[in-house]
Amino acid sequence: MKKGLLIIMSGPSGVGKGTIRQKVMEDPSLKLYFSVSVTTRQMRAGEKHGREYWFINQDEFDDLMNNGKLLEWNRYVGHSYGTPIDPINEHRAAGDNVLMEIDVHGATHVLKKVQGDKGVLTFFILPPSLEELERRIRGRCSEDEETIQRRLNQAREEMEQKGNYMFNVTNDTVEQAAADIVKIIKEQLEAQ
Ligand code: 5GP
Repeated sequence: MKKGLLIIMSGPSGVGKGTIRQKVMEDPSLKLYFSVSVTTRQMRAGEKHGREYWFINQDEFDDLMNNGKLLEWNRYVGHSYGTPIDPINEHRAAGDNVLMEIDVHGATHVLKKVQGDKGVLTFFILPPSLEELERRIRGRCSEDEETIQRRLNQAREEMEQKGNYMFNVTNDTVEQAAADIVKIIKEQLEAQ
């Protein structure tokens, strides 16, 4: 059994990673498994426990972290986020291609841990412009002005990391960005 790829999709908050990821996952030929993270933030309207995230409290998060159950973790705008390690290893071993959607800091940690692994693909999703990113973050309307400003500041810093990724993909439209990513994954699978 050929080991599956580890596909890391990152980029600033609000850039549309989640929507692009959903679109990419519509292609069954890619045999993708989405790595569902744990988070201590509140569930948003429309989200489902176990689908977008496992929503847990800080004690539960700390237990996972202290017991080596997280591949990486990060504090982001006052909340903890982390990637459970066991499902990733199990699915890759079973030949699934694992898709992770994480922030830039988490991705930096993962990249260090998987150095030398030829089965890793990294994507940085760019907004068409910072103005457009602000419009999208505000459009969510789910947070107060202070949180929005923190997310925007964070986004500006995160954009500086784009050079560390194998592929930069601009989210002009979700369809185009997802199609670009699918094409690259298929090329990689064929080259294996
Ligand atoms: P949101 O609260 O908007 O869902 O996510 C905030 C940020 O946390 C996004 O950039 C998202 O990609 C990132 N994120 C989601 N899951 C993880 C994770 O497991 N680890 C890390 N480091 N970041 C994550």
